[in-house]
Formats: sequence, C-alpha cells, structure tokens
Amino acid sequence: MSHHFTESEERRELRKAVAALGARYGERYFYAAAQEDRKTTELWSEAGKLGYLGVSIPEEFGGGGGDIGDLAAVCEELAIAGCPLLLMVVSPAIVGTVIAQYGTQEQKERWLPPLADGSQIYAFSITEPDAGSNSHNLTTHATRTADGWVLKGGKTFISGVDEASHILVVGRTSDQRTGKLKPALFMVPTDAEGVTWQQIDMGVISPEKQFTLFFDDVHLPHDALVGSEDAGLEQLFAGLNPERIMAASMATGTARWALNKAVAYAKERDVWGKPIGAHQAIAHPLAQLHIDIEMARLLTQKAAALYAAGDLMGAGEAANMAKVAAGDVAARAVDTAIQTHGGNGLANEYGLVQALAASRLSNIAPVSKQMALNFVAQFSLGLPKSY
Ligand SMILES: Cc1cc2nc3c(=O)[nH]c(=O)nc-3n(C[C@H](O)[C@H](O)[C@H](O)COP(=O)(O)OP(=O)(O)OC[C@H]3O[C@@H](n4cnc5c(N)ncnc54)[C@H](O)[C@@H]3O)c2cc1C
Repeated sequence: MSHHFTESEERRELRKAVAALGARYGERYFYAAAQEDRKTTELWSEAGKLGYLGVSIPEEFGGGGGDIGDLAAVCEELAIAGCPLLLMVVSPAIVGTVIAQYGTQEQKERWLPPLADGSQIYAFSITEPDAGSNSHNLTTHATRTADGWVLKGGKTFISGVDEASHILVVGRTSDQRTGKLKPALFMVPTDAEGVTWQQIDMGVISPEKQFTLFFDDVHLPHDALVGSEDAGLEQLFAGLNPERIMAASMATGTARWALNKAVAYAKERDVWGKPIGAHQAIAHPLAQLHIDIEMARLLTQKAAALYAAGDLMGAGEAANMAKVAAGDVAARAVDTAIQTHGGNGLANEYGLVQALAASRLSNIAPVSKQMALNFVAQFSLGLPKSY
C-alpha cells in the first residue's frame, strides 16, 4: 500500500521545467499581449514543442502519455508564473480528452497530433444565450443529410474562437424514433461556410477572448460527429472532470502567483521601521491563504489521481469540491494581495489590479460555483434537487 501524499518525482520534475518556461514569460508578457491585441503564440508554441500541451495525450497520437494531473500541473505552473492560459482548459483538457476517448482511430490521428504540439487550437462550445447553466435547454442542432450534417444554432462566451482551427460543438440530433433531441458532439472548422462570430467586450484582461458564435446551416461531413450519436451525455461528461480539475489548477496557480507577490512586497515595504509583513493583520491573511491554497491543491490532486485510476464518480466529487475551494481562494488571494500592496495594489505597474476580473472567473466558468455546490449538495450530501 502506498502512503505518498506528494506527487511523483516525474511530476515534480515536470513542474520545475514548466516553471522555468513560465519564468521567461510572466505577467508582463501576458498583459502586454492582451493590451496590444496579440496572442500568447510564442509561449503556446514553445509549450507545445516541449511536449507540455500534449502531456496527457496518448503517445501514439503525438502526446506524452501522461494523465490529467500532469496537464493540470502544467497549467498551474504557468498560472503561478503569471500566465493563466484558459485555452489549456479548453483545447488539450476538454477537447483532447473527448477525442482521445471517443474519437475514431482516424479522428484521433487527424486531430490529436496538432493539438499536442500546439500547432492547432480547438475551442469548445456548450454555453448558449438561453441555456446557460442549464444544458438541457440547448437548442443548437444538427440534421442528418445524404452527405453529412447541417448544423444550426448559436453559442455564447466561447473562448479562443479567433485562435482556433476547429470548435468542438455540443449540439443535438433528433432521434427519429422518439422525436427527442439528444446531445451530440461535432468538430466544426472555424472557416466553414456559415460559421460567424463576434467578439464580446469583456472586462477580463487576457489575450484569450470570448465570442458569440453563429451556425447558419453549416454543412459538415459525416465524420464531424465525434463519438456515438447515442452516447452523447456520457461523452460530454468525459470532458467535464478534466475541465474542473484544470479550472481548479488554473485558480490555485493564480492564487499562488498573487500570494507570492504579496509575500515579497510584505517583506520589502517598510513604513514603521519594520516590514509591513511583521504586522499580523498583514501576515495572518497571507498565512491563511497559504493554508487554503494547499487545501485546494490537495483536493485537486486527489481528483486527478482518482480520475487517472478510473474512479469517475469519486473524481467528479473531488473535482467539484476542488473547483469551489480553488475558485474562492483565487478571488481572495488577488484581493488580499491588492490590500497588502496599498495604493500600489491598484497601480498597473504591480500587475495585480489587472488580475481582478480574471480572479473571479473560476467561480463562473467553465461551471459556476453554484452548480458545483449543487453537485456536492445532491451527490455528496443526498439533498433533494432544487431545479
Ligand atoms: C471568460 C469566460 C470564458 C468562457 N469560456 C467558455 C467556453 O470556452 N465555452 C463555453 O461553452 N462556455 C464558456 N463560458 C461560459 C460559462 O461556462 C458560463 O458563463 C457559465 O457556465 C454560467 O452560465 P451563464 O453565464 O449563462 O450563467 P447563468 O446560467 O445565467 O447563471 C447566472 C447565475 O445564476 C446561478 N444559477 C443558475 N442556475 C442555478 C441553479 N440551478 N442553482 C443555483 N444557482 C444557479 C449561476 O451559478 C450564476 O451565478 C465562458 C465564460 C466566461 C465568463
């Protein structure tokens, strides 16, 4: 029986290497790209070449053959360095997992290697204006034709459409027998005729943007359908655990980044003849953050370990709990770091005020805090469903 609470030696080496890459970029690079309307292409392709983006993709499709915990470690380390890459949650974690698990051999050969080496990015779209948290209300749907499918509908808040070669779209097909709409997943090229999008004016400072998407009778070949038409929901859920584990890791990374900045400042800044960090009103919130970040990381690593071991329900529970813990601590860490910096907390030079909106993101997307709490209330506590 193993008694290890720490990650494997291999995982820790991976973290060190990714941290070194992140240190060469950092938040100045990230914010400059956002403000100058550039992308994080250099960082993304370097991470791809080094095998970090594809670390959890099977080796036979150009990946590293690791698990979601490895990919989460990459995402967390880059966030600690000040580069929280939202598209890591989307492209390798959600889309990569769904294709690797449910794609045909041909689909895996076609789509996974460029994802793993970073040469292609895939967006993921489920959210719709009139469905939101309630995916039972999705209306985007595909109709079968002689030569494939015709997709109609729209999505909102979809990240990275402008950078993506394809979008994995959660739509529905109508069941000929029952007339019911069933969820189904489609890979849609962003340059297909009938696909248009519009950037949403967001307050989040990031090179990665959000879009409203429109599918106006988009013709797709038969093999745009990923996985079976009859196992839509199960396939969708396959991507949800990785999504939550990744979102939690990005949040704990952001929290650690903010805490590191606050601690450094509290050791330096001296207005009463000793550093402000000597005052417990400054020191204790930082110590508490250190504890709470560690708790959120442990839960996240537990979720990743359960997922790798094939315990999907156990992983789901831990991943939802981790996401709530991590989302809260990310928001509090950025807030506390700003307070620790006094006026400088709101000066652009210190790089914290820019993270304020992003620090709220983990409690909203990819799934809101309330929906994660609903899961824990119903699944862990057996409370009745309210909706
Ligand atoms: C920066 C950003 C990037 C995003 N990227 C993507 C992406 O790439 N792909 C994608 O598909 N989507 C993406 N989203 C969308 C995101 O997943 C949704 O915003 C999120 O799921 C919440 O849906 P909503 O905004 O419609 O909120 P709503 O569903 O309208 O909810 C509003 C509020 O009500 C609460 N609420 C709703 N139902 C319940 C309930 N039953 N019980 C308790 N509380 C409830 C919610 O928690 C929330 O606080 C992104 C969003 C943002 C902000």
